[in-house]
Amino acid sequence: MKCRKCQAKLEVLRQCGRVRMRCTGCNKTYQIHEVASELDRETEEILERYTVLIYD
Ligand SMILES: [Zn+2]
Repeated sequence: MKCRKCQAKLEVLRQCGRVRMRCTGCNKTYQIHEVASELDRETEEILERYTVLIYD
């Protein structure tokens, strides 16, 4: 999925038990709920794996 500001790719960032999306272009971070409506399948699958880790 892409950054709203610069259209660069967002990467999943895991940090202290929280998961954020970070832009590889402008370095802006998004909370998951901010981008939840725009998640693509690839990102959802990554998040599902992280969710398992967090709540394990
Ligand atoms: Zn960006």
